[in-house]
Amino acid sequence: MKTQVCIIGGGPSGLMLSQLLHLKGIDTVVLERHSREYVLGRIRAGVLEHGFAELMREAQCGERMDREGEIHDGFEIADNGILKRVDLHKYSGGSSVMVYGQTELTRDLYEARDRMGGKVVHNVEDVALHDLNTEGKPWVTYRDGDEVVRIDCDYVIGADGFHGPSRKAIPKDVLTEYEKVYPFGWLGVLSRTKPVNPELIYAKSERGFALC
Ligand SMILES: Cc1cc2nc3c(=O)[nH]c(=O)nc-3n(C[C@H](O)[C@H](O)[C@H](O)COP(=O)(O)OP(=O)(O)OC[C@H]3O[C@@H](n4cnc5c(N)ncnc54)[C@H](O)[C@@H]3O)c2cc1C
Repeated sequence: MKTQVCIIGGGPSGLMLSQLLHLKGIDTVVLERHSREYVLGRIRAGVLEHGFAELMREAQCGERMDREGEIHDGFEIADNGILKRVDLHKYSGGSSVMVYGQTELTRDLYEARDRMGGKVVHNVEDVALHDLNTEGKPWVTYRDGDEVVRIDCDYVIGADGFHGPSRKAIPKDVLTEYEKVYPFGWLGVLSRTKPVNPELIYAKSERGFALC
């Protein structure tokens, strides 16, 4: 198989890039380890920064987001019972955030790729990147059952997250890592209840931090 850009990872980054490149006339193949159903069932982000919402529109994928998403012009910070509102719109020159689920956004991107004939290959196994720092062009392989498929390309994009194969394939002598480790973990709880407030609340108390 041949393409101009082989993108590893069919999450929001990989799909968005594929869509933007397509609109510029550049051919891509996206390789995703999981099935589409699995990716669409993965609950993650709910708040999109202003810049990403703009990018969705630029990618011609923002119609449903603009119809069904909620714009928040600010948020509240609660510190030991004292509530303070931060007016994003006022202090950032008219920006806001969009409350729209990552699952929905990913669905919109998949549908756009389908409409425009994009190639997204699911359930790929053993993805490997080859010849990344040689004079020749890079190539990628993956396994589909017993068959090993080779993709020749001009560029490889690693959009497969921290644990994916792309990061591991970057030669150590050209890799500079910047990392800040925070000693916190997240626990997400979904409940069928009305929102506690019209805007998000970032709350800190003696019992820890909560975002609702
Ligand atoms: C609970 C939670 C809440 C969050 N809330 C927010 C929020 O409110 N706002 C916000 O902006 N962000 C939020 N985030 C972060 C946001 O979800 C990520 O920034 C986003 O998913 C990154 O997208 P991505 O496409 O770069 O990576 P991913 O979504 O991780 O996609 C990478 C893709 O690569 C695939 N992959 C991995 N390995 C391989 C392989 N070997 N071969 C092929 N494919 C592979 C994976 O299956 C995956 O589909 C949240 C994250 C979590 C977990």
